[in-house]
Amino acid sequence: MENSKEMRTWLDDMQLNHPLVIAGPCSAETEEQVLKIAHELKDTDVSYFRAGIWKPRTRPGMFEGVGALGLKWLQKVKEETGMKTCTEVANAAHVKLALEHDVDLLWIGARSTVSPFIMQEIADALAGTDKIVLVKNPVNPDLALWLGGIERLHTAGIKKLGAIHRGFSTYEKTKYRNTPEWQLAIEFQTRFPDLPLINDPSHITGNRDMIFDVCQTALDLNFDGLMIETHFDPENAWSDAAQQVTPPKLVQIMKDLKIRKEDDPEAGYTKELSNLRAQIDVIDGQLIEALGKRMKISDGIGKLKKEKNVAVLQSNRWNQILGAMILEGESKGLSEEFVLKMFKAIHQESINHQEKILNN
Ligand code: PEP
Ligand code: MN
Repeated sequence: MENSKEMRTWLDDMQLNHPLVIAGPCSAETEEQVLKIAHELKDTDVSYFRAGIWKPRTRPGMFEGVGALGLKWLQKVKEETGMKTCTEVANAAHVKLALEHDVDLLWIGARSTVSPFIMQEIADALAGTDKIVLVKNPVNPDLALWLGGIERLHTAGIKKLGAIHRGFSTYEKTKYRNTPEWQLAIEFQTRFPDLPLINDPSHITGNRDMIFDVCQTALDLNFDGLMIETHFDPENAWSDAAQQVTPPKLVQIMKDLKIRKEDDPEAGYTKELSNLRAQIDVIDGQLIEALGKRMKISDGIGKLKKEKNVAVLQSNRWNQILGAMILEGESKGLSEEFVLKMFKAIHQESINHQEKILNN
């Protein structure tokens, strides 16, 4: 699959708001719940109403969705509000039912993108249709797997394609439910700048208080749209209660976001600059994260040295590190002077930490 301008034709042709907003509950729970949320979203910037009908849950015994019955409710949403609808499909039977009920946009969930068999089954079931299909990133940070899923749909003749960035699961606990690994989304964009890319701050954060910031980063990185889980009573939602926002909150978020206007003569420059700055912010965050981790390990070494009553400074080891880093730095275009200065500062901080441990 090669990047081509045609990839974004469907999005440009629809002349929707920028960013494209997809909103609605994590799960369709009852007909009343679906319709109430849809009516509250009707006169907002939302272009597509979402609701999960078949819910992939990590553990059995939880609410697994209302099933095909919910498709009738989505049809009602369309009749009563005029909003377009979308839902997740995870096998050929889901695709068949969603097509029969005229769902406008289908998305493939993160747990399906990981499986080439499932992606192929879905691609075969969709062949010959002109549905819009958005592919969520796989749960693990694997760009090739994500692209592979999209490629299978592309090969099956699906033209209206896009990707959804919903973050990646990690063994280590972080402040996110699924860490964004923005650099992966940036690489995705660099390789396929014309493939529409939507951000899903709900599944990235798992926490409604963090949604705004993730949305802003996504817009600064030139994402085309946002998918935000919305419920009139988030606390009592049957799934993903902590991350859903109310319709008025969604409207507020959209109002507060800094959205770069295309028609401003300076737009190209401002957009490019904010994109590059957002990339720098992502990397600076990673630098601090990595330095914090390094210092924790160094604390561990300090404790060991204390037990064995060994001196803090071991110059052989230090000279080895410096030598290796200067060479490594050179290959990345960093001057010896800079690498030395930086590692001296890091080393000094490590020594300070370890001395504190030894003298305590
Ligand atoms: C969802 O959108 O409700 C969902 C299940 O998402 P994901 O596949 O990203 O976990
Ligand atoms: Mn959800």
